[in-house]
Amino acid sequence: MIKWLLLVLLAAGLYFFLRRPHREAPRPRTPLPERMVACAACGVYLPEMECVRAADGRPYCCEAHRDAGGR
Ligand SMILES: [Zn+2]
Repeated sequence: MIKWLLLVLLAAGLYFFLRRPHREAPRPRTPLPERMVACAACGVYLPEMECVRAADGRPYCCEAHRDAGGR
C-alpha cells in the first residue's frame, strides 16, 4: 500500500516539476542584432551580410559606391 502512495507522490512531484515554467536567463527582446556597417562612400548603415566589400575590406552599400571609392 505504501508503495502506491510513494508512486503517486513521485508522479505528482514529476508532474509539478515538468509543469514549472522554465527559468531561463532573460533573452534579448530581439534575436541577436546583426552587425551593422556603414558604407564607406555614403555612410548609410546596412547589415554586414548585405554589404559589398572592397578589396581593402571596407564595406560599401552597393557596387556603384565601391567602384566610386571612398567619400
Ligand atoms: Zn553607399
